[in-house]
Amino acid sequence: MTFDSPARKPAPGPGKTFRVKSFGCQMNVYDGERMAEMLEAGGYAAAAEGADADLVVLNTCHIREKAAEKVYSDIGRLKREDGSRPTIAVAGCVAQAEGAEIARRAPSVDVVVGPQAYHRLPDLIARAERGEKAIDLDMPLDSKFGALPKRAGGQRPTAFLTVQEGCDKFCTYCVVPYTRGAETSRPFADLIAEARALVAGGVREITLLGQNVNAWDGEDERGRAIGLDGLIRELAKEDGLERIRYTTSHPNDMTDGLIAAHGEVDELMPFLHLPVQAGSDRILAAMNRSHSVESYLRVIERVRAVRPDIAISGDFIVGFPGESEADFEATLAIVRATQYAMAYSFKYSRRPGTPAATMDGQVEEAVMNDRLQRLQALLNEQQQAFNERTVGRTTRLLLERRGKHDGQLIGKSPWLQSVHVTAPGLAIGDMVEVRITSAGPNSLGAELLMEEVA
Ligand code: SAM
Ligand code: SF4
Repeated sequence: MTFDSPARKPAPGPGKTFRVKSFGCQMNVYDGERMAEMLEAGGYAAAAEGADADLVVLNTCHIREKAAEKVYSDIGRLKREDGSRPTIAVAGCVAQAEGAEIARRAPSVDVVVGPQAYHRLPDLIARAERGEKAIDLDMPLDSKFGALPKRAGGQRPTAFLTVQEGCDKFCTYCVVPYTRGAETSRPFADLIAEARALVAGGVREITLLGQNVNAWDGEDERGRAIGLDGLIRELAKEDGLERIRYTTSHPNDMTDGLIAAHGEVDELMPFLHLPVQAGSDRILAAMNRSHSVESYLRVIERVRAVRPDIAISGDFIVGFPGESEADFEATLAIVRATQYAMAYSFKYSRRPGTPAATMDGQVEEAVMNDRLQRLQALLNEQQQAFNERTVGRTTRLLLERRGKHDGQLIGKSPWLQSVHVTAPGLAIGDMVEVRITSAGPNSLGAELLMEEVA
């Protein structure tokens, strides 16, 4: 299928504008921010909201079929009324998985760059300018991070910080080990330096990111081997960094130290995103999850023992090949046993090249739809119940953005809920004390008790 003719493009370069559009996970959001910083350092300016851009980077997601297909319709939409189009770069996991096929299917694409090679984007754009199709899917041993411009914080009080990339777990449904490569941890010193730069730029909350963030390991400044809990404890000593979160974790990498940190480190927020995917041991084995229902529930129990108010979140897949009604009911049972504060749930999506794609017992779409609906009804009920349990509590909010109404700001509670508060004189970046007064399924209301608490 052809979308555009490759005619009449403006030459990209300094003085030009760009837009980076990120899809999918938070790691893509982080990568998108780093690409934007790199383009700005090279003389590009971010295009104003709604304005045309000279260069568009589509930072794509390959996790489910729908997400991957979306990139082609997005490329088509970039054609302007006069028939011209911006320079187009496709980055992220679709780029890694489909490679040169993208440029064949969509000839208007100039640059295809994988998630481990985006530090070379400026060179690739220069090659595209000379009329080449510039494709870079390398997974170099030297980390891209060293080649990126230093971070300077931003306009927001919260930031993502990728500490770990890739995955060695090879769940049978998942493309991540193929698109993001092997598990690697960024060095401790680089992370501390990046966190300090963010805090110096006004950031008060950092979310540590990784496909398996709790598999992070490294050496501290004295050469001692540490895990994610050690990194969190070091970051907690940084003046000005008031909140730390991390995501996404694998149940098998919830170490004793990390569980203990939830009870001991005040800066570590009481929120744990711990995907389980399914509630039947038979399906978990077919998924190659390497944990059981019992071991998962045991982790939850231990985290709750040290931090009773912790909000638990999860990911679920319904309709994995071979999933019977009884298997699905076991998923509903683990949801009832865990009591989630929020969760993400998906229909199984058959991904070419993964072992599950060729398994027997692929589940019909109508059955998947029905199961997803039942699961989401239960998860929504639990989310509403969790939110209602916080009504009447006094807590702190870090204000992150403006609301729809005059004087209204939206902040995050420690449990990652969006909370609205209205009071004159409040600003984005303030940490305020509030009492939660109302709860809906997706957001809460609060009254202000104290402005700017340290
Ligand atoms: N590493 C994390 C873990 O182990 O749970 C998850 C990372 S993955 C990018 C995010 C979520 O996408 C997974 O937890 C899973 O629920 C979902 N996912 C991955 N592959 C999928 C597939 N083929 N079909 C449906 N959902 C999928
Ligand atoms: Fe994918 Fe499994 Fe790795 Fe998570 S642990 S990224 S679901 S392979």
